[in-house]
Amino acid sequence: MKAYIDKSKCASDNRICKPLKECPTGAITWIEDDDEPLGSRMEIDSERCNGCRICVELCCGHCIEMK
Ligand code: SF4
Ligand code: SF4
Repeated sequence: MKAYIDKSKCASDNRICKPLKECPTGAITWIEDDDEPLGSRMEIDSERCNGCRICVELCCGHCIEMK
């Protein structure tokens, strides 16, 4: 199982994002992107994700799920 993010639910705020800070493998990154409505997005690298679920528990927007 890997973590996947629903961008439509994500606040994409790198200042408050606990999953971004706490992911043990550094699989989550915040990327500035002018094509996104919020000007940025969170991205999860499935190659680096170990399936620990920490991000699912910590996401305040409930936008990360395991598949
Ligand atoms: S906590 Fe969840 S909703 Fe908030 S920025 Fe991080 S991934 Fe997005
Ligand atoms: S499941 Fe674990 S390793 Fe994968 S993105 Fe979430 S916190 Fe990182």
